[in-house]
Amino acid sequence: MKKLLIVALTLCTSYLVKAQGEWGQKFEQLGTMLPTPNSYRTASGAPGRDYWQQKADYDISVELNDNNQSITGTETITYHNLSPDRLSYLWVQLDQNMRAKSSNTPLVTTTAMSDSVSGKALQTMINDADYDGGFKIAYVKDMSDKGLKYTINQTMMRVDLPKALEPGGKVSFKIAWSYNINDRMLEGPRSGYEYFPKDGNYVYTIAQFYPRMAVYDDVNGWQNKQFLGRGEFTLPFGDFTFSVTVPADHILGATGTLQNASQVLTPEQLQRFEKAKTTFDKPVIIVTQKEAEKAEKTKSKEKKTWTFKAENVRDVAFATSRKFIWDAMAVDINGKTPLAMSYYPKEGNPLWEKESTRAVANTLITYSKHTIDYPYPKAISVHAASIGMEYPMICFNFGRPDPDGKYTDQKKWGMIGVIVHEVGHNFFPMIINSDERQWTWMDEGLNTFVQSHTQKEHYPDMPIRRGCASCIVDYMKGDKEGIRPIMTNSEQILQFGNNAYAKPAAALSVLRETIMGPELFDYAFKEYADRWAFKHPSPADFFRTMEDASAMDLDWFWRGWFYTTDHVDVAVDNVKWYKMATNEKGFENQVTASGEVMGADGKKAPATNFQEAAETFVFSGTSDDSYREFMNKVDDEAIKQKHINTNFYELTLKNAGGLVTPVIIEWTYADGTKEKEYIPAEIWRHNEHEVTKVFAKNKEVVNIQLDPDKETADVELDNNVFPRQDVKTRFDQFKEKKN
Ligand SMILES: [Zn+2]
Repeated sequence: MKKLLIVALTLCTSYLVKAQGEWGQKFEQLGTMLPTPNSYRTASGAPGRDYWQQKADYDISVELNDNNQSITGTETITYHNLSPDRLSYLWVQLDQNMRAKSSNTPLVTTTAMSDSVSGKALQTMINDADYDGGFKIAYVKDMSDKGLKYTINQTMMRVDLPKALEPGGKVSFKIAWSYNINDRMLEGPRSGYEYFPKDGNYVYTIAQFYPRMAVYDDVNGWQNKQFLGRGEFTLPFGDFTFSVTVPADHILGATGTLQNASQVLTPEQLQRFEKAKTTFDKPVIIVTQKEAEKAEKTKSKEKKTWTFKAENVRDVAFATSRKFIWDAMAVDINGKTPLAMSYYPKEGNPLWEKESTRAVANTLITYSKHTIDYPYPKAISVHAASIGMEYPMICFNFGRPDPDGKYTDQKKWGMIGVIVHEVGHNFFPMIINSDERQWTWMDEGLNTFVQSHTQKEHYPDMPIRRGCASCIVDYMKGDKEGIRPIMTNSEQILQFGNNAYAKPAAALSVLRETIMGPELFDYAFKEYADRWAFKHPSPADFFRTMEDASAMDLDWFWRGWFYTTDHVDVAVDNVKWYKMATNEKGFENQVTASGEVMGADGKKAPATNFQEAAETFVFSGTSDDSYREFMNKVDDEAIKQKHINTNFYELTLKNAGGLVTPVIIEWTYADGTKEKEYIPAEIWRHNEHEVTKVFAKNKEVVNIQLDPDKETADVELDNNVFPRQDVKTRFDQFKEKKN
């Protein structure tokens, strides 16, 4: 007896040591991994009672020189210090300096030779392009025209204030600058010009064109991460007045409300523009293709100035060309009627005229349902070859038909997809203003997720490339050396599109469809959008809000999907089938169940098939000990009679991928009927690697299938099935087809 106890104790201890050694703390609270809540940001994920954010107002005037493709500008920035801190200097972002000769970007870009290198690739590889980029700062002055001391560190400029800016105070200062606009074909994306050699004209898609205030906040103090070209932008909100002077025959679209339509449009165009404001069923052409083609030839030497005002935006951008066709329609968002608009050269037609503005309208409708009602007066889609890039109220999108106007479905879906995506960025990060320089997933991931909903709702025939569980499988099961967690700073991300767009979007899809359910998810997601619209959320604010508004502890989910590179792979490793022994025998006569088969090496291998017949177990009476002080007793005989014919299945499930996940079991019975059972992820909380569970079924089971609808992103489907099926390789299928 004593000996037995010692043996039992030893077994017990060794089991515990083993289990603890393998414990990955997958269900532990994120705790110290998240910042400590404070009066600025609460533990519930909402802005706290002392939440503050800075404000930067701009008065900008720039002139675009179409002869040498350059911009000259002046601006007055009024910076409001709404923080509780004294500021002795301000940081201004000079993002164009990423393209300056002295930029660090080419220096920190790794390169390698290969057997064959194209001219364009070679130029990029050794940074040999003949282009003088970067801001030339003419002056930084206070409002009495006295020069302010400033220091430029790459893409950032520190402006030293003669007197510290007190909390609640504001300061205005002036900057004058110029820069050469980059050729987007050679110098990369986001903004620049495209030249059309056939008619000798340019399409300008212009952004990061003025020195912009950096963010100062309670999370990072002054934003201090340089713009290397990848991690995008982090900008405070403010009110803008800005004017752009361009050749008189240009048509210009920009962030904000046009202030002087009657000065820049013909009476006829103005009339069409007014008509568009009340036309909801289809776009109204404001500048026709015929008018645009005529302008292509005039090459006016006159100038016109377009003036805009935009309130509560983090940035402004514009597009201008004499090649532009322009159409617009009104969209009904719960009584508000923003304008959906498109600007495109004839090279975009007939596709753009048909699809672009409608795609803008569809995006505003679906995003408003999932987040907040679109608050801005308009949303523009501009045709720009080979890029997709977003700014408040305006974005630049690819999708150009062949020269003869023909286009494939793939081209059309690609174009609609990018428009939905870039217009969707109005919500993330232009309104729900996360820090793009730090976290790409907070805007790209959330945006891609709502994008997939927009596409499903308005374009049911369109293939979904990102935002579904099954589309992330190939990435998740890939070589872990090439994968970083989602919670990685933008610059260090590998496989950018998969990491920051597709995986977070797939994760949110799993969260909505499988873990939380649409009702709880949609409420919490909308709550996040409500709480952080026109504010600066951090990752913790998102994680906390989703839990706070749903009464679900999702720390395990964020931990697994966002902080690790684990993947989902649940295997049904063994199934044992039991029935109650009908003739009661002693324990010594009980057959021990064994669905296991012996491998060639004599070691236990996973079962691959049901046993021929059920093993039996002895139903024993409940011993008096187990009642302790209770007077009442269970009716053993009734329980026995109830289950005399029940099939008991003991499943052994293995978590081979490491990412803990709900388990979805589809049972197929001998009579051909099926039943689906859902088990929450917490089943793995005591053992993250292997669990067993007994299920009672009246009918006999012939097949078990895990995740039958591929909703958990399980990367290995062969081990989801019991009995195992021979999986045909593609070669087998090919051979069969041939035969
Ligand atoms: Zn994007």
